[in-house]
Amino acid sequence: MIPYTKSEAEKLILTLLQSYGGGAHPISLELAGAARRLAAGRGFKTAGVFIAGGRGSELSSVAEAQLKSCGLEEVYLYQDKRFCSFIPELHAAVLLRCIEDLRPSIFLVGATPEGRCLAPLLAVPLETGVTADCTELSLDDGDILIQTRPAFGGELMARIITPESRPQIATVRYGIFRGGEMAGNARILPVETGAFLPPQTQVEEITALSTGEKEADYVLALGGGIRAREDIGLFKRMSEAMGSMLMCSRSLVERGWLPQSLQIGLSGRCIAPRLLVTLGISGSVQFMAGVQGAKKICAVNTDPGAPILRVADMPLICDLYQVAEAYGY
Ligand SMILES: Cc1cc2nc3c(=O)[nH]c(=O)nc-3n(C[C@H](O)[C@H](O)[C@H](O)COP(=O)(O)OP(=O)(O)OC[C@H]3O[C@@H](n4cnc5c(N)ncnc54)[C@H](O)[C@@H]3O)c2cc1C
Repeated sequence: MIPYTKSEAEKLILTLLQSYGGGAHPISLELAGAARRLAAGRGFKTAGVFIAGGRGSELSSVAEAQLKSCGLEEVYLYQDKRFCSFIPELHAAVLLRCIEDLRPSIFLVGATPEGRCLAPLLAVPLETGVTADCTELSLDDGDILIQTRPAFGGELMARIITPESRPQIATVRYGIFRGGEMAGNARILPVETGAFLPPQTQVEEITALSTGEKEADYVLALGGGIRAREDIGLFKRMSEAMGSMLMCSRSLVERGWLPQSLQIGLSGRCIAPRLLVTLGISGSVQFMAGVQGAKKICAVNTDPGAPILRVADMPLICDLYQVAEAYGY
């Protein structure tokens, strides 16, 4: 792999379309939409790269439909039965070959466990940079990618550029560019893989990494205002009755009362429910970074100065236990 520079790159935005559950991971489709928007009116071409298990004829109908309608102009398809599970060295070898052939100016990757593993594996041989967990992407007048991400624990937003090395690699968290419409009729271009794969790799065990979880329309989020671990059961029942998903701030994860997979925020998940109800959450910048997409927020807090009450659509200054009691819990 020979690193290349700005002047040697093609005007191309390449997106990793990560395979997941027989189709494409939802984040891939979000990224395809972001690539399309970045390219619009700027003379960039757009393409995707999809790595799938099985042989050429076995692409699932779901995957085929998603790839065709992802809105990119072309999708390069690499298929081999060894791709059934995620083996970083194999996937990185494929992506390096694809990047070498296409010389994209920009490469967008979902910040899934697999994407977070692959991006630096590509950046090292390509001698380029990676900006992880971007929350915003735009192009400056010179077509340089402005990669915005929270820094210093979310206290400020850093704008990061990769001036000379190419591709400019950015990982983006799930849920940031949601809402992109499926459109277009991408050309799917199968690529022969046998010649360049490391031959010694064997699959011994298949472990799922990405969850690709369904998004909840209603979320009930608990925070540091919860007094005792035993009370969580009460709010689980309340959440079930509301038809919502129970999640939390980092306070409860740090106390070991709820798992990290349910944490909302900068170091947790980004959510975009139709309604988010928070109970005993202060609204720190780190928490709020994960709820920017929420359509309506109802916040319950005893402290009138709590930051979340200033941004909530329905701020309720009261004791969360009184709210539970009012609903019969
Ligand atoms: C690098 C970094 C990353 C971080 N990432 C995240 C992240 O992803 N997610 C996250 O949440 N935090 C994150 N944090 C931590 C964050 O700074 C806060 O400490 C955390 O969000 C506080 O959670 P909380 O508001 O639930 O708890 P607290 O700060 O303890 O606030 C509890 C709130 O409940 C209210 N309250 C108390 N009792 C009641 C009651 N009976 N009824 C109603 N209200 C009551 C209080 O007035 C208070 O506002 C991160 C911090 C750093 C430095």
